Amino acid sequence: MIPVEDTYRHKGLRKKLVDTIQQKGIEDKKLLNAINSIPRHYFLDSAFDDIAYEDRAFPIGEGQTISQPYTVAYQTQLLEISPFEKILEVGTGSAYQACVLAEMGVKVFTIERQKKLFNLTKNFTYLKKYKNIKFFYGDGYEGLPTFAPFDKILITAAAPEVPKKLLLQLKVGGIMVLPLGEGSVQQMMRITKLENDALKEEVFDNFSFVPMLLGKKN
Ligand code: SAH
Repeated sequence: MIPVEDTYRHKGLRKKLVDTIQQKGIEDKKLLNAINSIPRHYFLDSAFDDIAYEDRAFPIGEGQTISQPYTVAYQTQLLEISPFEKILEVGTGSAYQACVLAEMGVKVFTIERQKKLFNLTKNFTYLKKYKNIKFFYGDGYEGLPTFAPFDKILITAAAPEVPKKLLLQLKVGGIMVLPLGEGSVQQMMRITKLENDALKEEVFDNFSFVPMLLGKKN
């Protein structure tokens, strides 16, 4: 991951990507600005430099992917974030999603279960500018009890069921967004934690994520 230059060409392609995402129904201006300001090509192998601004997912090694920008935007919009909130992200992957959140002025706690991917984020110079992202190597099913409760929780891998321990780490009034399902296609869910352990569940569009797996991987 060598931070190549962010040229006018990259910036132009990025603006087009933002227009595409906007046309697909993403309206949050802060979110669109965040996508417009993050050089997505930094997060991909330089072999993908030319196509980094297409609205599609890419392999990032270890059988994992950097999500499609539209998917990143879709999940982020559902979180309805406000500045200074505390957000837990499960599935750091490339850290692109974490940066989108960080650009929007929240405090991000992100967990990755794969040591190799976690180590890549450690050595990725671009990420040093985000003092508001904390990276953790661990199992997202466990969450981060030490830092709980969170205002919002975002799961960026397909969960077979709603992770119970994560619900406990969500504030009352807090929101969890996750792709739910075991098959190749999942339903995007938004769960709002209400008083007395009640939950409000809303179902959105179908997406296809890599699975949320149990335990850590060395
Ligand atoms: N948010 C990422 C998308 C990564 S894909 C991005 O912006 O690039 C999903 C990631 O979730 C993968 O890196 C995968 O290793 C990770 N993952 C899967 N199960 C997990 C778990 N239980 N805890 C933490 N991370 C997990």
